[in-house]
Amino acid sequence: MVNKISIIGAGRVGESTAQMLAIKKLTQQIVLIDLDEKYAKGVALDIQETASVYHFDTQLVGSNDIANIQDSNIVIITAGIPRKPGMDRADVLAINLKIIDEIMDGIIKYAPNSYVIVVSNPVDVLTYYANKKANWPRNRIMGQAGILDSMRLSSFIAIETDYSINDIQAMVLGGHGDTMVPLTRFTTISGISIEHLLDQKTIDQLIQRTRDGGAEILNLKQKSSAYDAPGAAVTIMVEAIVHNKNRLLPCITMLKGEYGQTDLAIGVPVILGGNGVEKIIELKFTEQEQQAFDTSAQVIKSLIDEI
Ligand code: NAD
Repeated sequence: MVNKISIIGAGRVGESTAQMLAIKKLTQQIVLIDLDEKYAKGVALDIQETASVYHFDTQLVGSNDIANIQDSNIVIITAGIPRKPGMDRADVLAINLKIIDEIMDGIIKYAPNSYVIVVSNPVDVLTYYANKKANWPRNRIMGQAGILDSMRLSSFIAIETDYSINDIQAMVLGGHGDTMVPLTRFTTISGISIEHLLDQKTIDQLIQRTRDGGAEILNLKQKSSAYDAPGAAVTIMVEAIVHNKNRLLPCITMLKGEYGQTDLAIGVPVILGGNGVEKIIELKFTEQEQQAFDTSAQVIKSLIDEI
């Protein structure tokens, strides 16, 4: 257990993450920061009131003052605006970039020794920006995307095939979006690649559903995008850091020559432990996999160029 985890942005993903962190007893205190002070306090109190059910002693605090993140061990960034009608991707990027810029000022000032997990979208670009702004060692600022995308692929395989979800391990790398790179070679059911167990047409359909995973939830829910599965994905990262688990997980990290890329933040397999991103695992890609990864990298780079 650590002393303090702060979540900036007490919206849906922030709230779901806070609830799961409390249930898993990963920290003594959770601070939720939002522009809307009353809302942040309401979220904190609502979760606090679940303590007797889940038997946690975690204290929840809601505030609009980023100074309250002082000395956090981990800071999670879930603040931002979603895309609204009439806005293109560049508009969202410009607004969320400004939000991240301010938040990073606060993190650098009040929690200079923390590990930072970026969740706000476009998550690859914002993770890059957070790294550039702080100029900390790259192991301390990372982004979440691939764990969620892999969770989705695993779920779709289980739903489609009836194999137990407990035996399914998926690996999705690259950017968080249309060009994500699901690696079927390394997506297995009890260690056996799905390439041996499912026909190509089924695999293609599962991959397409994974690419459209966020949109599928949005279309169904209408009133909001996904937040429970994203919150769970962030919790896996926090748990790996807090309990020094050295888990091998797909995370967004800055590359310095790995996979033939530099000056880019993108999803790759890493060892996640007590020092954050302890190590980047370099897989030997096939030509096709490398091509898909390079395409994904190119898309992120063109967005980075916009900033
Ligand atoms: P939401 O609208 O429910 O919550 C966002 C919150 O951020 C709001 O409460 C808002 O008041 C707050 N906020 C805005 N600017 C702020 C600032 N400067 N300081 C503090 N708080 C601020 O949105 P959500 O559904 O929780 O999604 C949050 C972000 O996470 C979005 O950018 C979304 O696209 C992203 N997301 C990423 C993933 C992923 O896998 N990386 C998954 C789901 C959502």
